[in-house]
Amino acid sequence: MATDQTYSTTRPLFGQVAIVTGASRGIGRSIALALARAGAHVIVNYRASAEAAAEVVAQIRAMGSRADAIQADVTRPEDVERLVQAATQFGIPRILVNNAGIASAQLLMDTTLEEWESLMRSNLTAPFLCTKAVLQHMIRAEYGRIINISSIWGIAGGSFEVAYSASKGGLISFTKALAKEVARSGVTVNAVAPGAIDTDMLQHLSSDERQALEQETPVGRLGRPEDVAHAVLFLASPSASYVTGQVISPNGGLII
Ligand code: NAP
Repeated sequence: MATDQTYSTTRPLFGQVAIVTGASRGIGRSIALALARAGAHVIVNYRASAEAAAEVVAQIRAMGSRADAIQADVTRPEDVERLVQAATQFGIPRILVNNAGIASAQLLMDTTLEEWESLMRSNLTAPFLCTKAVLQHMIRAEYGRIINISSIWGIAGGSFEVAYSASKGGLISFTKALAKEVARSGVTVNAVAPGAIDTDMLQHLSSDERQALEQETPVGRLGRPEDVAHAVLFLASPSASYVTGQVISPNGGLII
């Protein structure tokens, strides 16, 4: 268990094993780098982008922290078991960031059952599988930080994104319920619900749509992956022990 004796203000996560799912690109990559900068040993999970994941690992090692890339499709229970087993070789996982996710934009009437199930599997079942696999270790250690990456659409609902919104809203309910269930074990569970963040996930937008989104956002710009990573870093720190079951939404004021 982290105590005042193990806490360092310069590298508050020194030596802590942190699993970040979907850390090869975008928001997950930025979270991995932020946790590593704070001293964590980061397990950089990816599904297909081996080269990008290797680059994240190299960047972390260059800054003097530890990192390992582990391929696993987090929608598959056997892959999740393998991922967590590999991580525990480096120590008890103290931080889990359920970041991997997929999006899709279409009318509900055009959404097939297969598409619905695929979104639920990636955005809700995968966090369930990863959380279940690390929770046993965290409870035994009486310490843990679980951070689920939801979305503003999980709070407010987005038209053309009913399935995505439902999956991300489900993740917020999952967060709140589990926070209560494990609070006495020293494990906190929180969600971060970003607004529009400039990653591959927004590449389908036309330049007009991007501009409209920027104008609609009170701070006048799209979010950067680092805007999300800062919030995650706070929730992952030992000093956030009294924050649980909460949703922090870095969204530039898009929803208030
Ligand atoms: P992204 O750029 O598309 O990156 C997605 C990451 O997830 C990649 O590293 C990808 O790995 C990984 N991934 C996807 N499915 C996976 C699986 N089954 N197993 C393992 N890894 C998997 O997405 P992003 O924009 O960074 O989004 C990250 C999270 O933030 C998602 O949960 C998303 O819903 C949420 N979010 C994003 C925005 C936004 O505007 N961008 C807003 C709100 C919330 P590979 O590279 O190997 O494919």
